Amino acid sequence: MRGDPELTVLRLGHRPGRDERMSTHVGLTARALGADRVVFAGKAEGPKETVTDITDRFGGPFDVEVSDSYRPLMEEFDGRVVHLTMYGLPVQEVEEEIRSTHRSGPLLVVVGAEKVPFDVYEAADHNVAVTNQPHSEVASLAVFLDRLHEGRELDREWVDADRRVIPEERGKRVEGTDER
Ligand code: SAM
Repeated sequence: MRGDPELTVLRLGHRPGRDERMSTHVGLTARALGADRVVFAGKAEGPKETVTDITDRFGGPFDVEVSDSYRPLMEEFDGRVVHLTMYGLPVQEVEEEIRSTHRSGPLLVVVGAEKVPFDVYEAADHNVAVTNQPHSEVASLAVFLDRLHEGRELDREWVDADRRVIPEERGKRVEGTDER
């Protein structure tokens, strides 16, 4: 988020056809909840297009990239690497340390798809669990980002949007940003 060191989300192992919706939702969740960039490892042109389109319409800044391999980004990343996994340490026990290192440097948050190769567990500085129960990359990412930001991401301001939602108790109100 603006004013914070960069926060990147890496989605491992996108399989074309099978993972389209989950990869898209990882990207949309990363954008909505305070990350600056998502990288899809795999052939993820569809998710890239959808998340870019949402950013163009509802604002940013937010970058979307596709990469053939996750390894260069993880190995060369100039900052802490957090891997979200049900086998890791409870988020509530490690969030303060991660938050405090992120105050002064970039953070890479890695989520998987199917079986995650063991080198990811080894390359990560923190293997972090959002409960030790199996669930989903979208859910774990959402909880982790909210914990990391302590809720600040809910008030994030959006730049270069061409529309915005006007919150209402009932109904669906959207206005163009040039209508004010
Ligand atoms: N069975 C796979 C494995 O053992 O690597 C995990 C598959 S799970 C459907 C997909 C991703 O969701 C995981 O790679 C992880 O990033 C995330 N995930 C699922 N449950 C989680 C949990 N309890 N805490 C943190 N992340 C979780």
